[in-house]
Amino acid sequence: MYNSLNPRRKGSKIKKSDKILVAGAGGFIGGWLVRDLLNDGFNNILAVDIKDISNWYQTFEQVTNKVLDLRDTQNCLEAMEDVKIVYNLAADMGGMGFIENNKALCMLSVLINTNLISIGKNQNIEKYFFASSACVYNQGLQLDSHNLGLREADAYPADPEDGYGWEKLFSERMCNHYYEDFGIEVRVGRFHNVYGPHGTFDGGREKAPAAICRKIAQAALTGDLNIEVWGDGEQTRSFTYIDDTIHGIKLLMNGDYVLPMNIGSSEEVSINQLIDIVEGIAGIKVTRKYLLEAPKGVRGRNSDNTLIKEIYDWSPTITLKEGLTKTYNWVYKELSSN
Ligand code: NAD
Repeated sequence: MYNSLNPRRKGSKIKKSDKILVAGAGGFIGGWLVRDLLNDGFNNILAVDIKDISNWYQTFEQVTNKVLDLRDTQNCLEAMEDVKIVYNLAADMGGMGFIENNKALCMLSVLINTNLISIGKNQNIEKYFFASSACVYNQGLQLDSHNLGLREADAYPADPEDGYGWEKLFSERMCNHYYEDFGIEVRVGRFHNVYGPHGTFDGGREKAPAAICRKIAQAALTGDLNIEVWGDGEQTRSFTYIDDTIHGIKLLMNGDYVLPMNIGSSEEVSINQLIDIVEGIAGIKVTRKYLLEAPKGVRGRNSDNTLIKEIYDWSPTITLKEGLTKTYNWVYKELSSN
């Protein structure tokens, strides 16, 4: 896959005063990451997002917040000033409904990663994290609803999700060649369906867990128990709670493994099972109307965690029921307050 790369190299330790850029900080994972970095005592954080600050999921007084479109090189130069550590979580993305219908927009996120890493190289940054995705995996391995788990090598031969997945795979390789050719300390996490509070739950970019929490919360609030389900509900995924994802990002950033690594859960769950769990949390039973023509993505996707277990002894700790309870309660509160 990456023939000449040494997959392990100990980078320098991140210092609390190192200037850190969190790109995409107004988004779901970026917001939680900034919170966590502050909790860990990092005190020089620049948070950047293209969205108006009033639309960021979380903001913190102790960090500098800036609105910039990071597809633009000049904006990236501004964002990267004196930066030592980069977390690139910025991407124009969403759930299946968004990525199936906006392939060109998804691919334009390549500009963000290309700008940030090339400027980073010129100013000798110390570490660079890229948020990749399970959408890089070969689609031919995801035709069955029962999926034993995708190993990192299963991204090749390449046949990723069109648009979004191609951009992620290309950007992963860009990161790895910056390591190979210029010695930039890159870390690449392949996230698998991250969910939790303070993320997108409506508007067209939401992913399955948040969308189902919203539909069931709406049913509970209005008494209309009919919900629409995309596909036949038997497609499977694995879902990773945000706290586990943040923990995984930290392991990668503090560790020495350079090549892409899954950060995901290996618990295969169908969309129907996901709905069963949220019904139990909400204490209601809904009537499911299956929309067989709606975007549904691959038939079965799951994470193989052998590599991250072996290298970092990591497995997710938060059960789906526990994570969905927190997510459902947050979505319910958001809906009721509107
Ligand atoms: P998100 O949409 O909530 O956050 C991404 C943020 O990037 C958004 O706030 C968006 O406004 C910002 N952004 C988009 N274009 C930008 C630009 N040109 N300049 C600056 N900011 C820009 O998504 P998320 O769930 O927090 O995902 C974070 C990262 O993780 C993304 O790269 C995503 O592709 C990746 N990822 C997420 C998941 C998941 O399940 N959430 C799964 C796989 C990979």
